[in-house]
Amino acid sequence: MEPILKIRNLSIDYKVNNGTLRACDNVSLDIYKGDIVGIIGESGSGKSTLASGILKTIKSPGEISEGQIIYCDKEDKEIDLLKLTEEEYAKYRWSNITTVFQAAQNVLNPTLKIKEHFLETAWAHNNKLTKHEILDKTKELLKNVRLEERVLDSYPHQLSGGMKQRTIIALSLLLSPDILILDEPTTALDVITQWYIMDILRKVHEEMGITMIFLTHDVSVIGSIVDRLGVMYAGELVEYGMVEDIFKKPTHPYTYGLMHAIPSLHDDVSKRKAIPGYPPNLLELPDSCRFAPRCYLYKDGICDGDSKKTDKLYTSGPDQLTRCYMWEKVNKICR
Ligand code: ATP
Ligand code: MG
Repeated sequence: MEPILKIRNLSIDYKVNNGTLRACDNVSLDIYKGDIVGIIGESGSGKSTLASGILKTIKSPGEISEGQIIYCDKEDKEIDLLKLTEEEYAKYRWSNITTVFQAAQNVLNPTLKIKEHFLETAWAHNNKLTKHEILDKTKELLKNVRLEERVLDSYPHQLSGGMKQRTIIALSLLLSPDILILDEPTTALDVITQWYIMDILRKVHEEMGITMIFLTHDVSVIGSIVDRLGVMYAGELVEYGMVEDIFKKPTHPYTYGLMHAIPSLHDDVSKRKAIPGYPPNLLELPDSCRFAPRCYLYKDGICDGDSKKTDKLYTSGPDQLTRCYMWEKVNKICR
């Protein structure tokens, strides 16, 4: 199967007062058509920066310093998104690649009824559709996200947070995109609403087969719905593979730490261990693997210095990649 999105050596920098901060460092990743991909990582690991890179919405002081993002469109034509001008990319945003983010609810205009949001969005991108056609499609989408038709005549403030987020999801699907990027789509919501929305997204995926990319710090929210999982640490992608392989046999010490820090209903919570220490400051990166200061596998001379072997991704399984050269030891040595 060909990837629908090929991200190659993507680096994104923010120029700040005291230097250049590389929030996304040399990230390469294949996203397959129809898959649900999760990207997890602590706050500040570069998830939103990566999402903005794909959507080409990086704003100053940020800039994409290198890389390629190849999108395979609905006619199987390959397009390097980063080479497009803003005007050219605008044709793809909404219609092909779209997003729902954490604070998305705030994008609803308080002075417009919900139905006006749908009409305006559709007309802004395709002026051939009639009002009737747009509203028919809207009603269908509202049904998919389990909202009643009557919300069409509501103003945003008349809806709960969860209803607004579901409205945004329906709106993002209006132009039948083939990639939906969801950046912390449920973080601002209570736990029950989070699960409800994840269930809706799972059904939407089943019905529409749309490729979904979830970015979140909370693997427990997405673990049961994603096919593949990527793990980011301090701007780098440190592991990528099928979710069940990564859960069963993580091959990066950071992923191992994350998996053993998540409490589950079935085990002894007191055995759960948080990873000691903190991620590095991106402006003062260690001269070693970025995870080395927190790593139980750290080896002098291998994980740092000129001979550092942690600069590339190694194949650690049939469909699994890791940045750790000692990946075979990850599951054998426990702290
Ligand atoms: P979170 O889980 O908190 O949303 P994240 O993984 O999405 O975090 P990003 O928001 O991509 O992380 O941030 C990555 C790094 O880039 C952080 O160190 C952050 O401080 C920095 N950064 C993000 N946006 C900007 C900006 N506009 N200007 C300067 N630095 C930025
Ligand atoms: Mg973020």
